[in-house]
Amino acid sequence: MRPTLTWTPAGDLPPGTTDLGPVVDVLAAGRVLVLSGAGLSTESGIPDYRGEGGSLSRHTPMTYQDFVSGAGARRRYWARSHLGWRTFGRARPNAGHRAVAAFGRRGLLAGVITQNVDGLHQAAGSEGVVELHGGLDRVVCLSCNASTPRRELARRLEEANPGFAPVAAAVNPDGDADLTDQQVADFRVVPCARCGGVLKPDVVFFGEAVPPSRVAHCRALVDGADAVLVLGSSLTVMSGLRFVRHAAGAGKPVLIVNRDATRGDPHAVTRVALPLGAALTAVAGRLGVTVDGEGAG
Ligand SMILES: [Zn+2]
Repeated sequence: MRPTLTWTPAGDLPPGTTDLGPVVDVLAAGRVLVLSGAGLSTESGIPDYRGEGGSLSRHTPMTYQDFVSGAGARRRYWARSHLGWRTFGRARPNAGHRAVAAFGRRGLLAGVITQNVDGLHQAAGSEGVVELHGGLDRVVCLSCNASTPRRELARRLEEANPGFAPVAAAVNPDGDADLTDQQVADFRVVPCARCGGVLKPDVVFFGEAVPPSRVAHCRALVDGADAVLVLGSSLTVMSGLRFVRHAAGAGKPVLIVNRDATRGDPHAVTRVALPLGAALTAVAGRLGVTVDGEGAG
């Protein structure tokens, strides 16, 4: 069965609907590529930079240029990130992540691309997830390229900073937290355990390009899909928007579930403005797909 959606010309869209019918139909037809963003993880307690009350209004995330510019910037990054990690480490997948995993198990998906670095799709049981912007669960050495688990670094940072125990006022989607200048100044960063080089989280910073091989892989996933379903992304950054444009350019329906308007709306056949956990649970119900841990929150 093919999707029976009518193509809506660019710019000719309503402001957002509550009708999940097109999402149900396109998933029932199968081979849907999911593209998820920060909005999918807000119900897990990880705030969205750009949503209502997002932290972009309070501070600008560190750019790649900042990070490589000197030891001071890296100390600030790791102090905040080390604090934020405690909260990130406790985050659990929500009903939206579990529904996506259930769609995958039912064979309805052509793949999952996420802009999130929180690992919650994988924790919910989704397989073959492409982390467009990398993942916070590992770090890379900028000198020897060794990739090591973040929890190993967290342990070393705990040992190097025995008195470091501030309480995070707020944690951002990139896993860092707000700290005072003095708390940052007192923080001790540790180098690569193998070569003494500079460690960087294995995530794509603002101002840094997604590796070309990863972009090519994502493009191939779009080519192999019949439709693209965007979940919880404003598509503000080009790294995600380009796949929506690629799909639309190939005549494939793009459906968006996101509370606010997105940069992808002109390319979409519909944008559903409903909370993701409830919306995807409802979609699963209409498809007869059982979601693990349903009702558990
Ligand atoms: Zn190294």
